[in-house]
Amino acid sequence: MDLSLTDAERDLAELCREFARKEIAVRAPRAWYEGRCDTDLLREMGGLGLLGMLVPPEWGGIGMSTVGFVAAMEQLGVADQSVAAAWQAHVTIGSLPLYLFGTDEQRERWLRPLAEGRALGAFGLTEPGAGSDARGIRTRAERRDGGWLINGRKTFISNAGTDMSFGVTLLARTETPGGEPAYANFVVERGTPGFTTGPKLNGIGWRGLDTRELFFDDVWVPDDHLLGDPATGLGQFLRTLEVGRISIAALSLSLTQAVLDLATGYARERVQFGQPISRFQAIQFKLADIATELEAARWLTYRAAWLRDTGRPFVKEAAMAKLKASRVATWAASEAVQVHGGTGYMLDSPVARFYCDAKVLEIGEGTNEIQHLVIARQLGC
Ligand SMILES: Cc1cc2nc3c(=O)[nH]c(=O)nc-3n(C[C@H](O)[C@H](O)[C@H](O)COP(=O)(O)OP(=O)(O)OC[C@H]3O[C@@H](n4cnc5c(N)ncnc54)[C@H](O)[C@@H]3O)c2cc1C
Repeated sequence: MDLSLTDAERDLAELCREFARKEIAVRAPRAWYEGRCDTDLLREMGGLGLLGMLVPPEWGGIGMSTVGFVAAMEQLGVADQSVAAAWQAHVTIGSLPLYLFGTDEQRERWLRPLAEGRALGAFGLTEPGAGSDARGIRTRAERRDGGWLINGRKTFISNAGTDMSFGVTLLARTETPGGEPAYANFVVERGTPGFTTGPKLNGIGWRGLDTRELFFDDVWVPDDHLLGDPATGLGQFLRTLEVGRISIAALSLSLTQAVLDLATGYARERVQFGQPISRFQAIQFKLADIATELEAARWLTYRAAWLRDTGRPFVKEAAMAKLKASRVATWAASEAVQVHGGTGYMLDSPVARFYCDAKVLEIGEGTNEIQHLVIARQLGC
């Protein structure tokens, strides 16, 4: 197998590396500590074409491969996980439903501004009573006056409440004409009467990511806000999440690389018992283990991306990549704090920030228990 990057993928990774070093690493930590989403940074990324990563040029994107997207994420996520999290949520679950299931009119209206970096995309599946169990959602859409009346509530929705947000693509319960339960996807734009957002939620990590509750009280949308097939909306949303898993795996790689670099740098400088702690075998083994596990997770992730790019089945591999890479990230972040000792426990040390950011990688876009279920089903269970 040839897993080397193409020229276009390498150029993109280089662009992201420079932007991450010059802009994100310098500005984003402040937003993290302030618990604020830095949409100025996201707009600048839009100006570089990064917000239209997986959307073809005819709809305003740059039509990058999934492998290129992973390579870009590896560069961006080492600088700041919140910015990278907002970016990836926009690129995958925020934009792809519109690209994959929208009509040309819908793509022109909503996808193009997202791909051109003029607006931020959001995906609304989770509800207070339904997270892993997506079929349990209670938000309803009923046919009314030539359109749809939506009532319900979503929670933990990223990117829907910023000054750059366009609104949300959501999953709602409907009924077939025969009265059977069905699910459909709708676009609800910001400013639609009855659509409101709660305050930004306060997580232990990804503090620069805007995540909120969304409320839909008699929100009426016309028929052209229905996305794709009204009977298979759940399948449409779950299909989008398959790419989201590769994305979270890539985010996990970047976090692991970041904490490995921080721990290695610290170990070479910190002197105890008259020598740098990097001379102690116990410390060396920690760093060597992180590097080895990172490499294993990296190839699972690139292979899942390559399978998608070459039109092969990738559901099992994407779930494996997400499972492995997120586990490696949370473990590596803990080990990296250990290498830093008390310094690593203090919130103003960068490694502590990554430690806080790591846990959600095992939760978002399908918990790791759900990844086990996906893999087991693919094995025939
Ligand atoms: C920062 C952040 C951002 C998010 N952004 C978005 C977003 O933009 N859009 C969106 O729609 N959602 C978003 N989410 C929601 C996220 O996808 C859910 O939190 C996740 O899917 C889990 O759902 P839950 O929190 O309701 O947990 P639950 O489903 O209640 O799960 C609780 C526990 O039970 C386990 N469990 C559940 N079912 C099973 C089972 N069958 N077998 C074994 N174990 C099981 C879970 O793995 C977990 O450990 C976000 C969450 C966070 C924290």
